[in-house]
Amino acid sequence: MNQITTQVESCANCGLSETRTKVVLGAGTLDAKIVLVGEAPGRKEDESGLPFVGSSGKLLDRLLAAAGLSRDDIFIGNIIKCRPPKNRRPKKSEVGQCEGYMMEQLEIINPAIVAPMGNSSLSYFQERFGLEKQVIGDVHGKVIDIKAPWGRTKLFPLYHPAAAIYRRHLLGELEEDMKKLGELASK
Ligand code: SF4
Repeated sequence: MNQITTQVESCANCGLSETRTKVVLGAGTLDAKIVLVGEAPGRKEDESGLPFVGSSGKLLDRLLAAAGLSRDDIFIGNIIKCRPPKNRRPKKSEVGQCEGYMMEQLEIINPAIVAPMGNSSLSYFQERFGLEKQVIGDVHGKVIDIKAPWGRTKLFPLYHPAAAIYRRHLLGELEEDMKKLGELASK
């Protein structure tokens, strides 16, 4: 993981290296049974170099605690390690240049459960593992078995916490899904 950190910190594989303040490698334990994966860092993450800070990070912490989990038990990261300007969606070419870092991180951590947060992250994993394309509204909180390079793994899609801030009706569903995730991890 230290080697990946060194590579990412000096990475200039795509144009996002010119606009980032800090790379956001992800954080948590390397023994994590659960890895949460978002799409890309936002403004606060870019400033701090830490994943999921700011209001969606605070909500995520509260949801994790209610499910009997904490950041110390899991690993949280993003597919892309540098913030796209104005939080635009990452380009396919940027994802292509960056995804290898996350896949290497996942191979090192070897999690039992990968939880993509939000449609973009879900879509990435669907494409990566040849799964049927479905939107987050149809598959959130459901277990999808995948054969990943690091072994058999459960994909457990979640709404992105930011979506639950802007669309409050999703909050209850996200709370329920997070509890299911906590139960799944304790088996
Ligand atoms: S987004 Fe990824 S590929 Fe692009 S510069 Fe940052 S670390 Fe490198």
